[in-house]
Amino acid sequence: MLIVMKSTANEEQVAAVVSAIEKHGFTAHISKGDIHTVIGAVGGKIIDFREIELLDGVEKIIKITSNYKLASRTFQPEDTIIKLKNSTIGDKELTIMAGPCSIESESQMEETTDYLSKLGIKILRGGAFKPRTSPYAFQGLGENGLKIARKAADKYGMCITSEVMDISQIPLLVDYVDILQVGARNMQNFNLLKELGHINKPVLLKRGLCSTIEEWLMSAEYIMSGGNRNVILCERGIRTFETSTRNTLDISAIPVIKKLSHLPIVADPSHASGFRDKVAPLSRACIAAGADGLIIEVHNNPEKALCDGAQSLYLEQFEELHSQLKVIAKAVGRTL
Ligand code: PEP
Ligand code: MN
Repeated sequence: MLIVMKSTANEEQVAAVVSAIEKHGFTAHISKGDIHTVIGAVGGKIIDFREIELLDGVEKIIKITSNYKLASRTFQPEDTIIKLKNSTIGDKELTIMAGPCSIESESQMEETTDYLSKLGIKILRGGAFKPRTSPYAFQGLGENGLKIARKAADKYGMCITSEVMDISQIPLLVDYVDILQVGARNMQNFNLLKELGHINKPVLLKRGLCSTIEEWLMSAEYIMSGGNRNVILCERGIRTFETSTRNTLDISAIPVIKKLSHLPIVADPSHASGFRDKVAPLSRACIAAGADGLIIEVHNNPEKALCDGAQSLYLEQFEELHSQLKVIAKAVGRTL
């Protein structure tokens, strides 16, 4: 960290800052400029920087190192590649996860999976535990839903990603699914994240509705510090002042994450936009921006969907998008 002293700071104030940072194990490197004195603090432990910021004569603090380590590119320069039984995530080949918002019935999952598998889709999405804004809305089929999804996926050799909302659901999800999804609303449920650090299945970590990229990477760090290094980040739109779309897709998060972290990142244009007519353009943009893949809501009968029908693509629409993505993948050095 760099501590920039005020232009009016005197020698005693500089000495007080040096002694405060040395107490925390830092070594101080003082550099006297014409106007400001800057103190470089090297080494040391994690501290609350505000303690130093409050000292007399301090103008501001500039943090140099991040609080996340395991998730950072500095710690691991090469990309993390996650291995599933039928595919990899974070490799040259893009990953497309598709399926309904919620698992609703056997016929729905059978028809959807049959269609998706013919297009070469390897990962089926579908929620059995749904985080709904209203307690009166459909909450998901629970274990029964997981059974239905597993049966459909197994028939076509597909993997499943599904949301875990609570620590108590972890054993059930580990039994049935290949990737456990942490929803936007749970990104900072630290107890859940800690427990997911102890499982041996990948975790798809969605970005919180109002979370910064740093907070998101700190949440990944919670999982990774428990021993589970298989984290996939998912940009799903953030809440802004704009009301034309359900959320605002932060496409810049993709190249930012690519620089800061070695973890794979996918985008969710369905929850980001909330409308099916926006899903294809946003999907194309995310792949062009360097995402490792997408998670897209697709329904065999969106008008009858129990959840998020308006943002779910018709099967044929998904097929058309998939063929467009192949062209974009090639243009950015990826395959699909
Ligand atoms: C979902 O993917 O089903 C979901 C609820 O998404 P999010 O957590 O991003 O809102
Ligand atoms: Mn949904």
